Amino acid sequence: MTERAPAKVRARAEIDLAALRANVRALREHAPGAAFMAVVKADAYGHGMIPCARAAREAGATWIGTATPEEALAVRAAGIGGRVMCWLWTPGGPWREAIEADLDMSVSGMWALDEVTAAAREAGRPARIQLKADTGLGRNGCLPADWPELVAAAVAAEREGLVTVTGLWSHFACADEPGHPSIAAQLTCFREMVSFAEEHGVRPEVRHIANSPGTLTLPETHFDLVRPGIAMYGISPSPEIGTPEDFGLRPVMRLSASLALVKHAPGGLGVSYGHHYVTPGATTLGLVPLGYADGIPRHASGTGPVLIGGKRRTVAGRVAMDQFVVDLGGDEPVAGDEAVLFGPGDRGEPTAEDWAQAAGTIAYEIVTRIGARVPRVYVDDADNADDTDGADDVDDGGAARE
Ligand SMILES: *Cc1c(COP(=O)(O)O)cnc(C)c1O
Repeated sequence: MTERAPAKVRARAEIDLAALRANVRALREHAPGAAFMAVVKADAYGHGMIPCARAAREAGATWIGTATPEEALAVRAAGIGGRVMCWLWTPGGPWREAIEADLDMSVSGMWALDEVTAAAREAGRPARIQLKADTGLGRNGCLPADWPELVAAAVAAEREGLVTVTGLWSHFACADEPGHPSIAAQLTCFREMVSFAEEHGVRPEVRHIANSPGTLTLPETHFDLVRPGIAMYGISPSPEIGTPEDFGLRPVMRLSASLALVKHAPGGLGVSYGHHYVTPGATTLGLVPLGYADGIPRHASGTGPVLIGGKRRTVAGRVAMDQFVVDLGGDEPVAGDEAVLFGPGDRGEPTAEDWAQAAGTIAYEIVTRIGARVPRVYVDDADNADDTDGADDVDDGGAARE
């Protein structure tokens, strides 16, 4: 991330690190009594893991969270200190490296406890583990029926000096659906599973269950630590619970491209594969050099919104692998003019949420899928930042990606 951005690039995803820091601060105000874990899995939801992890740290995130151990090890390899936790392990995973890198490792079942204790024995030092309870998500984590066995084995391993149980934690299924009965049920279950573990000798440093919607709307879920992901990137977890502005958040990613071609077209011209769009009369067409290889959803064919020359246009016909077309209705922007797919939304451009609705998905998927072929350009607007390093750096897919 040291090269200058070329004056014109095919496409770019600008990442506003000042906005990210401001979002972290806003989220910390929503949960003032809790520690903050910045979730940067999946290349920070497409925003670039290392720059985002650093920015979150600067704004007060004392924990960094990833899904895979490889992601967490990459955070450490970039020289980022402090606590780093990862939770998606599979048998044969890099336990020993994780112990030596001082990671906190989630353990959801006996196979994982067996592997981590074996690695701790080899490493000659204890592993920091956090026991994950399945309180009703029905995905990863230990179900209540299996909890006594896991807790007893973890306590025994701790007495042998092989592990330190640093946390007890869980994850919500429906925290973004206000009033969903599973929220209260999961909280009750979590409290019971935590109490059981504590009664049997676990002394966790942190107990945690809150994701973005929990952090924003459910103070009773904050416990010792909150783990927001999507909200840190300035996107509401669900339009149902509010807009980013409602929560004091600002979208961090702005995706744009240079028009590759503008041309006059006659009426009756079939546009893009399958001819699902036919020009209704003489018009102008603009070619946007982004496609599903770049993460533009093919499901947004005929529906995705784009801002060109101050006007909202719509994807005409199919999104192809590398490009799509918009009908410019006779306007004549020139090749090289900017097409903005999404951004914060305050300069007329669509938002990632608009694309999610156009494609029948969630905004998480829109930003996370933006592909490796799109350079991330880090901007740090000094006007919005109180700790900017003033850098406008481009990351062409090397350093910050795993
Ligand atoms: C992804 C993830 C989060 C963050 O979820 P958001 O809805 O993006 O806030 C928190 N905890 C776990 C276990 C996750 O996998």
